[in-house]
Amino acid sequence: MPELPEVETRRQYLEASSLYQPIEHILVEDHKLLTVDYETLLGKLVGCSFTGTRRVGKNLFVLTNKPDVILHLHFGMTGDLEYYHSSVGRPKYARIVFAFENGFNLGFICPRKFERVGLVDDIDTYLTRKKIAPDGLAISLPELTARVRRRKSPVKPVLLDQSVVAGLGNWIVDDVLFQAGIHPLTLASSLSDEAMHRLHEAIRHVLTVAIEHEAVYRNFPASFLIHAREWDHSPYEAPDAHRYCPVCQTPIQRTVVGGRTTLYCPVCQPE
Ligand SMILES: [Zn+2]
Repeated sequence: MPELPEVETRRQYLEASSLYQPIEHILVEDHKLLTVDYETLLGKLVGCSFTGTRRVGKNLFVLTNKPDVILHLHFGMTGDLEYYHSSVGRPKYARIVFAFENGFNLGFICPRKFERVGLVDDIDTYLTRKKIAPDGLAISLPELTARVRRRKSPVKPVLLDQSVVAGLGNWIVDDVLFQAGIHPLTLASSLSDEAMHRLHEAIRHVLTVAIEHEAVYRNFPASFLIHAREWDHSPYEAPDAHRYCPVCQTPIQRTVVGGRTTLYCPVCQPE
């Protein structure tokens, strides 16, 4: 699933390719992908240009030259973007296409149809209505502390909750807790100031590294817990090898917290 780092790379791609080009037409192959009706989408966007972007968690907002017309993209499980010229033909699964007057197009690639496209007139109003918290890269230490400590649940599901902090998915939270030396079952309400500081730093560190490597997990530093996950063919470990902590070499423990597979080091993350 595109997590915050993947959505950030798509945001940067859109900014680099698709701004300041008037939209001539919008093709929508399957109207179920829209959270707004097609006629409204055309009426509001045709003739407009994209002028900037804002990402909050996994939500990407695209600003236009009309202040109250903002495109909202959600990438679902496998969504992606592709900018291409009309002469090369529509990419596979580009089920929504923003065709610009200059002959180029921005295709929204929707292989599994879990992606969504809509319009919002005010981003902050939308975020409040949907209870989406500040983004993991933007949240301040005092705000994170207040939001995390008011919960009497294990810290892992609290960090996964998009109304506490936006954009942290399952592997990200495991690596954040590993980098911060916090056991995933630690009660959120019991975290000390010092632990909150480490947690805040770890969120920034993990997200920044993931974005720097354009979310290509196998390129992450060896100090990341993500290499212990089976689906990642890490250069640091054979796929069927025992998984050891990159810091202390203790075997990585695997458990289920809040219904999600959870990896941790019992030595670096004591209960
Ligand atoms: Zn360890």
